Amino acid sequence: MSRKPANKPNTRVQHPEISKLTIWRRLFTLLLLFVAISSAGATPAADTGRPKRIRYVFLFIGDGMGPAQVSLAESLMPDGKSLAMTSFPVLGTALTHSANRLITDSGAGGTALATGFKTTNGTISMAANRLDTLRTIAEMARSKGMKTGIVTSVGIDNATPACFYAHNPDRDNYYDIAVQMASSRFDYFGGGYAEGDFPGKRARSTGFRGPIPGIMEKAGYRIARTLEELRSIHPGTPAWAYAPYDRKAAMDFEMDRSSSEMDLAAFTREGIRLLDNPAGFFMMVEGGKIDWACHSNDATAAARDVQAFDTAIREAIAFWKRHPSETLIIVTADHECGGLALGNLANGYTIKPELLKNQRISSQRLAEKAAAWKQNGTVSYRMALDSVRVWYGLAAAAPDTSLVLKPDELTRLGTAFSDQKPDTFAGAVTRILNERAGIGWTTNAHTMLPVQVFAMGAGSAEFGGIYDNTAIARKIMKLARIGSAGK
Ligand SMILES: [Zn+2]
Repeated sequence: MSRKPANKPNTRVQHPEISKLTIWRRLFTLLLLFVAISSAGATPAADTGRPKRIRYVFLFIGDGMGPAQVSLAESLMPDGKSLAMTSFPVLGTALTHSANRLITDSGAGGTALATGFKTTNGTISMAANRLDTLRTIAEMARSKGMKTGIVTSVGIDNATPACFYAHNPDRDNYYDIAVQMASSRFDYFGGGYAEGDFPGKRARSTGFRGPIPGIMEKAGYRIARTLEELRSIHPGTPAWAYAPYDRKAAMDFEMDRSSSEMDLAAFTREGIRLLDNPAGFFMMVEGGKIDWACHSNDATAAARDVQAFDTAIREAIAFWKRHPSETLIIVTADHECGGLALGNLANGYTIKPELLKNQRISSQRLAEKAAAWKQNGTVSYRMALDSVRVWYGLAAAAPDTSLVLKPDELTRLGTAFSDQKPDTFAGAVTRILNERAGIGWTTNAHTMLPVQVFAMGAGSAEFGGIYDNTAIARKIMKLARIGSAGK
């Protein structure tokens, strides 16, 4: 603590020898200094001066990624390394409620982040009345001549990515949303496949016009299913790239992904290559499966997907290094999911996230295996417990006492195994490992917990403080000079 001397007399004296000429000289020197500083470009620290127009905007959305998800992922980083997002110089907090609920869904959350307006849950970039269309920052960027790219680890027509290129009163109209990829004329779509192209979703549409890939090709898009195909596409060619996808059109969880499958970082890196041009670009990248892991209360899968999301963010940082004074990177979430708590009474004032490293497959993958066991009927409870030891480290006898299953837990697993729903067994196994690690969950759905906003690069200083999620889109519109909310 510093103390000012009490009653210190004013020691400043006006020197009579300072002539008017000297004052002008000093003012001129100050002006030169100001010009030199302004043209020196941004530093990793937050920009404090008035920034010039931002040409390159990255908006990363960790779906369901609350502060606890970030901290948990950080605690599981190898060799004491840090996440890239937590090294950003500016941290803000965004409130996530929607127009009609304290707890938002990804439709209303995505609409707020894409348009700067609150809307009702389930709505895709339309006003709360579900009649008026709201312009998105990606559409504004495109109309200013910037290129536009949308990347996600879930289906490309899921609520969050859809909010940037489509408008629909109902997020479940997957087919109608997916066809809007083609009419958007955006330059790049990457990540998951289109759920709208699945037979059940096609049947829901009253305006079926054929398979989505055909519609995209007719609109001039090149389709890439592998990294090699994606790499062969030249910048300036509109492209849609997708990875092997699951029954919901999503990419695999990071912890289940085989090394031959493209990860979120590869889709981001190739997207940057295709979009890079002097007029600039807007790119949204969603870590969509963080949310899905949290819906199934799978802490390990959530943490691994936050890490994969962070690896994609590093691609943007590599780009920022080449254009530091014109690149803005924002990392945030649309809402928290699961009510993830880091600490429980059983563990007291300690937590053992390292125990999660024993989990080798996602809870969803275990549920798929349990479903197969049920189908062929050849796997006994004893054999299932063997698999639990291999994939989760939990066993009736284990070298690490933290992983030894107690009699009551074995009873719980036995009951879950005889349940008809395979998810029950996978859920029970995952819950036990989470409890042992000191991790709790309050819900299988979203919460109203505020989310973090990490910002770096040109204009990032604007993102400090606590504000509504709608302010993020509005700040981007102002900094990139692409328009204002609703216009
Ligand atoms: Zn969700």
